Amino acid sequence: MNIILLGAPGAGKGTQAAKLVAEYNIPHISTGDILRAAVADSTPLGVEAKKYMDAGDLVPDQVVIGLVRERLGESDASTGFILDGFPRTTAQAIALDEQLADLGRRIDAAIAIEVEPSVIIARAANRRFCPKCGRTTTADEGDICVLCKAPLIQRDDDKEEVVKNRLDVYARQTSPLLEYYRGAGLLQTIDGDRPIDEVWASVRAVLPN
Ligand code: AMP
Repeated sequence: MNIILLGAPGAGKGTQAAKLVAEYNIPHISTGDILRAAVADSTPLGVEAKKYMDAGDLVPDQVVIGLVRERLGESDASTGFILDGFPRTTAQAIALDEQLADLGRRIDAAIAIEVEPSVIIARAANRRFCPKCGRTTTADEGDICVLCKAPLIQRDDDKEEVVKNRLDVYARQTSPLLEYYRGAGLLQTIDGDRPIDEVWASVRAVLPN
């Protein structure tokens, strides 16, 4: 099963991706996670990507396309994948189609999780991150990670001005992909402003058994 998850940052793609991993036993490939790991390790890729990420802008296409090309070539992705946060531009979508065509594979579904911008801004304000264990949680947990006792932080790209820019970038550069995948007969849209399990039931319902 080759699945693409679309939706604005903070729509809940990562949460649904985790459920898809458990259901289909295929890897969750999040370009945001890969880039954040590169930033944390201060690799050349991370140093290059950080300036874009901190501002909420997109990392250049050729950087991200190369990264996904490599990742899809790894053995665990040979039976399927869940792409989360990629593609984000038409150029990325075309590059993905070309790579899959070369491999004799195709996308099974592009699932768009739709959430109003005002809800996304409120969610980002409440989201916290543990820099020690890498876990994402909410401010309801308090200031300290319940698992490893490190102080929780707010990711720079969850700060309000940055979130607004990310939503703007999504509207301008990524939302045209909805038409791209609708035109290909692959788009499934899901209302993401509901409890996680309800969203999951809808995601599951649009995929084959
Ligand atoms: P995410 O966790 O998916 O919201 O990604 C965090 C940040 O990583 C984004 O705001 C971008 O700066 C960068 N990023 C992730 N995926 C992509 C992509 N497909 N194209 C360009 N930049 C990306």
